[in-house]
Amino acid sequence: MMESAGDFPLGRLGLGLLQLRDDPELTVLSANGCFYSMLGYQENEVPALRAAGQVQVLREANPDDWEKRVRRSGSTEFTIVQFKLIRKDGHHIWVSYRVCRGEGNRESFFWGIVENITLSRRFQRIQREQKEELEALTANIPGGVLCCRDDESLTLNFVSGGFCRIIGYSREEISERFRNHFLELVHRSDRPELLEHIRSDAPWDNVMEYTFRVVGKDGGVLWMLDKARCIVGADGTVWLYSVLIDVTATKMAQDELLASEERFRLILEHVTDPVLYCNFATGEIYYSPVFRQKFEETFVCLKPDETTPFLSATDFVWEEDRAALMDYGSRIMGGEDVKNAEFRFRTRSGAYIWCSIHSTLSCDSVGQPTRLIVIFTDIDRQKKENLDLRRRAEHDLLTGLYNSVTTSTLINEAIAHSTPDERHALFVIDIDNFKKINDSLGHLSGDRLIVGTAEKLRALFRDGDILGRVGGDEFVVFMKKADSSAVAKKAEILNRSIASIGNGSNLSVPVSGSVGVALYPGDGACYDELFRNADTAMYSAKKGGKNSFRVYCRGMTFPGSQSSSLR
Ligand code: GH3
Ligand code: MG
Repeated sequence: MMESAGDFPLGRLGLGLLQLRDDPELTVLSANGCFYSMLGYQENEVPALRAAGQVQVLREANPDDWEKRVRRSGSTEFTIVQFKLIRKDGHHIWVSYRVCRGEGNRESFFWGIVENITLSRRFQRIQREQKEELEALTANIPGGVLCCRDDESLTLNFVSGGFCRIIGYSREEISERFRNHFLELVHRSDRPELLEHIRSDAPWDNVMEYTFRVVGKDGGVLWMLDKARCIVGADGTVWLYSVLIDVTATKMAQDELLASEERFRLILEHVTDPVLYCNFATGEIYYSPVFRQKFEETFVCLKPDETTPFLSATDFVWEEDRAALMDYGSRIMGGEDVKNAEFRFRTRSGAYIWCSIHSTLSCDSVGQPTRLIVIFTDIDRQKKENLDLRRRAEHDLLTGLYNSVTTSTLINEAIAHSTPDERHALFVIDIDNFKKINDSLGHLSGDRLIVGTAEKLRALFRDGDILGRVGGDEFVVFMKKADSSAVAKKAEILNRSIASIGNGSNLSVPVSGSVGVALYPGDGACYDELFRNADTAMYSAKKGGKNSFRVYCRGMTFPGSQSSSLR
């Protein structure tokens, strides 16, 4: 038989002592004051209760597990069961009963220590409800949500279903296999750095961001972007609340991109032509080693939204070529498939060289430019040779003016590009008595006079006018946008100017020229018509005594046999 409950100091520890009869109702045989006080009885009510005996305090006659764990055990070992007791006020409390079977003289009984666990059960229930709430809230987040202690193993307190789906382990597996140590799920190589980050980041109320790998159940490595926040509990425990996003696909794509950029660069390193590479996403410009050897690097002003990146160059491009290059760049950036184009670029030595450039533009799925590659091929020598050949083919070698064929072609082109209201004039100029000059002073002097006349023409007319030598001592000038009064004035000046050639020179014979003028469109719709009429007018001037000019008019005749034209 147990000793009187009053003999034990258990009451002071808040523990109840309880002896139950082994009957179906588990009737109270004896209990200490603390037990009754747990049930809400005053000290003065206890004697009466004790005297009454057989107090019915169990909420259910047979608490859970009682049959299996206590009654059938038959042993004298202690076992712990939890059940509800009815308080005086009708409410219930939860108790933990550390109980053992005992045998008296006439009856068997149970005895043991009762502890009120109502508060800790309530706390557990609140925690469970909070977890359920968190789980419900995080169920639809595309990623995982974790709460772990800021300890050496990052012990998990909560794991969302989303994280379990990502990693492939159930909550039970995480608990059993990893003892809820989150760090054990992290890739071995990333563990020290992750802990280091957590320790070194200013934790309070800051959102921290980490990227690390975790190892899934299938052994696969997954990249996680972790946005974590530190929260300190009332008891001083530091909790890390994390939202994890699976960034494996993005990370792999980034790695692949880096690798492909690297391969791409390696190729460019070995290209023998200078290469310029613009990455619009990063705003980065890459100059191949050969480019750096040949040109300055600083000419490009590239902004990610700039559509014509290499056109903002200043004196890298020959001034006359800038407009054409601008046009070329706009077409390339507009997605046009433009053939190679030729421009002059400044080299490190300061000299400009001709390059043929070939550009390739890459765009993303929505058509935004992503990359531009420009390859420069040095064509300076052949370009200059070609230009020289062309110049020789188009020009008169003695004077540098256009030759007869080019003169005719250019004048016809100018007429074709004219607007209906534009007026032009064609001058035919022939040196008077040139044969005599040749004969008396020699051919070289004759040549000098031809060159001198060409210089006078260049000085008198504008850059856009077309100047040609179409015969031995015969010249043509196509004066653009000329009205008839300006034409007469010009012809007069021309006469005076040619006559002045001999002044100050060693030419001992007088020099003069005869000029005939035909007006476009009245006197002809093409070069041949205009020339014929201007030549007729020039012949008329010769006939009238030379050293003068005539503007063509209807009725003027030109005897073909006496033509002054050497065409
Ligand atoms: P006119 O006043 O009627 O024009 O008489 P002209 O003596 O000037 O006769 P014409 O214009 O017909 O003669 C042109 C001469 O120019 C014929 C040719 O011997 C000479 N000639 C042609 N080409 C050259 C050249 O390249 N250099 C030199 N010095 N003379 C040339
Ligand atoms: Mg002549």
